[in-house]
Amino acid sequence: MPNRRDSYIFGQAQSAPAEKPVQRPEACPFCQSKAVSTLAKVITASTYWRCQSCGDMWNPERLERATRLPRRGSSW
Ligand SMILES: [Zn+2]
Repeated sequence: MPNRRDSYIFGQAQSAPAEKPVQRPEACPFCQSKAVSTLAKVITASTYWRCQSCGDMWNPERLERATRLPRRGSSW
């Protein structure tokens, strides 16, 4: 079964890079709309998402920082 073995090795090699795959956000963190989309082909922590409902943009990396600190209104 060469295919299975190859994919196993490939999976091991993939664990090293900093950009690990992340889950697609279920909803907009601001208005909870499910109408979120991205232009990125590969979803990582730095992938930008756009909410079609409120028009806000974010990425998981940035959102994590934003939720840890108090949000300062007009900064973004
Ligand atoms: Zn929204």
